[in-house]
Amino acid sequence: MKPSFEILSKAPGSSARAGLIHTAHGPIETPAFAPVASQGTVKGLTHEQVEELGAQLLLMNSYHLFLRPGIETIARLGGLHLFTSWSKPILTDSGGFQIYSLSPLAKVEPDGVRFASHLDGTRIFLRPEDVIDIQVSLGSDICMALDYFLPYPSPREKMKEAVNVTSRWARRSRDQFLGRAADLQLWGINQGGVDWDLRKKSIEDLLDIGFDGYALGGLGLGEPKSELLAILEQSAGLLPEDRPRYLMGMGYIADILEAVERGVDLFDCVLPTRNARNGTLFTSRGRVVIKNRKYALDPGPLDPDCRCFTCRRFSRAYLRHLYERREMSSAVLNTIHNLHYYLDIFRKIRQSIQLHLFADLKRKILLNQEEDTL
Ligand SMILES: [Zn+2]
Repeated sequence: MKPSFEILSKAPGSSARAGLIHTAHGPIETPAFAPVASQGTVKGLTHEQVEELGAQLLLMNSYHLFLRPGIETIARLGGLHLFTSWSKPILTDSGGFQIYSLSPLAKVEPDGVRFASHLDGTRIFLRPEDVIDIQVSLGSDICMALDYFLPYPSPREKMKEAVNVTSRWARRSRDQFLGRAADLQLWGINQGGVDWDLRKKSIEDLLDIGFDGYALGGLGLGEPKSELLAILEQSAGLLPEDRPRYLMGMGYIADILEAVERGVDLFDCVLPTRNARNGTLFTSRGRVVIKNRKYALDPGPLDPDCRCFTCRRFSRAYLRHLYERREMSSAVLNTIHNLHYYLDIFRKIRQSIQLHLFADLKRKILLNQEEDTL
């Protein structure tokens, strides 16, 4: 069997690496950013636009798709790739994050998690095995094991319990997955917050079980930056070189650069797309809040250094007008720009690692990040 991950280049003086994740729906160049397509679509864009922007992987959401239109419906329609007509790789999350964050009544039991649908309150019980069955039925290229996730900060005893439950569920997920789908991958998620002893135990448990890739979960929840970076560095030191590492849900470019430097290969976040719809745009000169009155007569492009469709064609004044009028095209054009900005930075990151210029790129990007005045 072809190895699912290969490293093409490493940046000298740091742990940054450029590589390829091989899937049945094509390769993913890493470090990679997965735009979020919760309901099977990046809000506001067509798949064609998303592909043109350079996305090689989409994150779709098991929890939302499970509730609507339902897994059986998608399976009957040929699986997630056929149903959504997205032909490149798909990663589905386990749904854990949504269960714990959207359902106030979520209760973890030894055998699984009990929760109420945030839509109509229907009581649902899911075991780790069910979560694997759901993702295998969807035909997701990268499936994630169900984990037990706690907010920050949480008492150490509870964190310890979360790590133990996560490890037990990880083993059951692996057992359920084995022999089911040779062309799909199963990745494990480690927990433990910023407590290194717990995080270390979680990683060791997952390594003992063995996964195609390893995700760092439960981070980016408000813990001090220095502690987060220390955990990333220590975790990367423990994880195997030949498996991809995924930092879940972290989306600020400054944090992404720090994580890449510490050996993280994959990221996802709603930040560029959600913020685009809210009129907050990320540019090479910093953040632009397009509703700001100072742009009302600004004939210049959103980002003078950007080559995206939005920046080549429209002025800040026009984008502000669309936003103020709540036009659908505002969300579309803003999302095109923000996704282009993110995916272009990832292109540059991969290139700079290959050319041994990652440290220079990081310095340059961070130098120009001044925030807009609100
Ligand atoms: Zn642009």
